[in-house]
Amino acid sequence: MDYLKQATKLKNQLIMYRRKIHSYAEVGMNLPKTVDFVISELKAMGYSPKKVGQSGVTATIGCSGKVILLRADMDALPMEEKSGEPFASTNGNCHGCGHDMHTAMLLGAAKLLKENEAQLSGTVKLMFQPGEELFKGSKDMIEAGILENPKVDAALAIHTATGVTPLGVFMYNNSSTMMCSADTFKITIKGKGSHGSYPQNSIDPINIAAHVILATQEVIARETIPSELCVLTIGSINAGSMANSIPESAVITGSIRASSKEMRSTMVSRTKEIAELTSATFRGTCEFELLSGTPPLICNPQVVNSMVKYINELDFQGKSPYPGLQANASEDFAEISDRVPSAYMMLGAGFPTDPKAANAHDPAVRFNEDALPIGAAILAHCAERWLADNQ
Ligand SMILES: [Zn+2]
Ligand SMILES: [Zn+2]
Repeated sequence: MDYLKQATKLKNQLIMYRRKIHSYAEVGMNLPKTVDFVISELKAMGYSPKKVGQSGVTATIGCSGKVILLRADMDALPMEEKSGEPFASTNGNCHGCGHDMHTAMLLGAAKLLKENEAQLSGTVKLMFQPGEELFKGSKDMIEAGILENPKVDAALAIHTATGVTPLGVFMYNNSSTMMCSADTFKITIKGKGSHGSYPQNSIDPINIAAHVILATQEVIARETIPSELCVLTIGSINAGSMANSIPESAVITGSIRASSKEMRSTMVSRTKEIAELTSATFRGTCEFELLSGTPPLICNPQVVNSMVKYINELDFQGKSPYPGLQANASEDFAEISDRVPSAYMMLGAGFPTDPKAANAHDPAVRFNEDALPIGAAILAHCAERWLADNQ
């Protein structure tokens, strides 16, 4: 089947899918309207979709044999939209990362694959996940069994790249880490309160917090490999309520990013150790909590190379491969790529002639809907071709 030609015919329907999901943007792990919409569209196509985990959806198509998983995320961001689009969300949430585009692309691929079911030499498993922005949705669906029954052999996900990224550019990494791990943490330092004029009666948690913050930065300076991407950011510190009183506790939150599993584990364990030992040095105690986390996104070179070859078989507008993409950002598809040989592609969906075009996570961000049929065709074509090559 000429997936690109068929997907182009579906363009108006893909735009309808995208704008509908966009208009009622839902965030986090509970996406009732989006999930209902995805389920009803899949049923209308002839699928038997199932809910997986808190708010995920899956459906399969094809015969037995090898299984390839196609992933789309469905969640939006909790920020007010300022895109100026006529279909903009007005509920205080915004599809500012393009996950509405990804859901529409995967629905489009589902439709294309259904029309071509007889040609499939294995099984395609669709995965629509919530909570990517929280780094929770993928893990939740894995724990609920998305990678089993039937067992998944390979996986593919597409993420749009907007701003000034031209339509048709596809970015990947077949040799090293594509995106960093992300771990958010909370450190609660407990001391002893007192009047500010009698510090000897206190155990000052603010003073301890200051030492902890400075000491953790030494992990970056002296304990990580300089050529690797490693970031430790303290994003908040809260303690006290007045100028002449020493409070009982101080709370720090922050995030750690690393481009390798080894550095991730070193940074997390050393941050915990430094917080605990520094607190003890100054007579306080502390509790270190990991709030959320996802591993670095490392794709399987063989699967990536196959997908690049299949994408190059499609003749879409602006087609241009961009290898070696590496970003500080994170993506919870990494939970899948950590367990199954995977490929992850960034697909250009921006406006290169507008130098002020906003990027993802900006409330003014817009996405080029011409990318919708390209994305749908890539997903369907790559799935069919990978199954044909790997039985
Ligand atoms: Zn995002
Ligand atoms: Zn995203």
